[in-house]
Amino acid sequence: MYNKDKSKRGHAVALFSGGLDSALAILLVLKQDIEVTALTFLTHFGCDASDRSSCGHNPFPVSEKFGFNVKLMHLGQKFIDIVRSPRYGYGKNMNPCIDCRILMLNEAKEFMKLTGADFIITGEVLGQRPKSQMRPSMDIVVRDTELAGKLVRPLSAKLLPETEPEKSGLLDRSKLEGISGRSRKRQMELAAEFGMEDYPSPAAGCLLTDMGYSNRLRDLLQHTEKIDFDDLNLLRVGRHFRLDEQTKLIIGRNESDNDKIERYAKPHHIKLEALGTGSPIGLFISDNGDNKLELAAAITARYCDSKTLPQVEITCSGRGEENRLMVAPAEPDTAAAFLLK
Ligand code: SF4
Repeated sequence: MYNKDKSKRGHAVALFSGGLDSALAILLVLKQDIEVTALTFLTHFGCDASDRSSCGHNPFPVSEKFGFNVKLMHLGQKFIDIVRSPRYGYGKNMNPCIDCRILMLNEAKEFMKLTGADFIITGEVLGQRPKSQMRPSMDIVVRDTELAGKLVRPLSAKLLPETEPEKSGLLDRSKLEGISGRSRKRQMELAAEFGMEDYPSPAAGCLLTDMGYSNRLRDLLQHTEKIDFDDLNLLRVGRHFRLDEQTKLIIGRNESDNDKIERYAKPHHIKLEALGTGSPIGLFISDNGDNKLELAAAITARYCDSKTLPQVEITCSGRGEENRLMVAPAEPDTAAAFLLK
């Protein structure tokens, strides 16, 4: 199926985030008359690249413009497992970049074997990122995936040991790059040479590099043994409050948040809403009975349009029941004390 008619000189599998570096790595190899199949990995912690509309890391415009195939692959539970306990630890936030690279490359390796492709390419640049793109980390990735000789980093190739396709002449090493460090200057020049006009900023995409999201995720993992996809989806929504070890409250910030809270709520959760006034939806999640329900209602009242009234009536609906509570809206300091920042 790939390069079946041998019209190309070879076939490479690429890790493709949709960002500039991985696109340039692909273009450098395409230019050498090699067919490229790009794998774009999806996780529960990134924007959804399968949505062809507004995502900054949508891989399709570049692939359509330059003529290579993109395959979307969801890493699902495998990725959640490494986020929970990464062998090589986290970056600045909850991003387990070294383990992530290893997982993606192992998937790419399987795909390479399945399709009889010749080698794998990535857009990594030596020394560009503090941990995952330093030489020792890049060597760990090669060692753990057993991809020595088969993994080409076209943007830094001239600074790295020669790989099999370079030795065999499939790739002309002199036409690859020797970029290192954080400057984007050479990448910009290459983008201009290739006629790439729009490309996303390098930081966009992975929520695990976001401090606020990482704090909410860390809290979830610390307090919940088994998490599911709805739990992860809720992390993207609203303000999160940790009320005690077994109790948490999520409060919508706008209508879109409220809709999502309704969508991801489970039957044992309780929805809180102020009556007769503009109100967010609060989602009360507890494995410890309802002893923090009044506190949750008071915090919900704090964010409704009647927050200056001495008392606000809150409906509590869920588990097949609907009850009402009269509460004084929480003081700003009280709400802030429980807020996950
Ligand atoms: S930033 Fe996110 S997607 Fe990128 S390597 Fe790190 S964990 Fe993986």
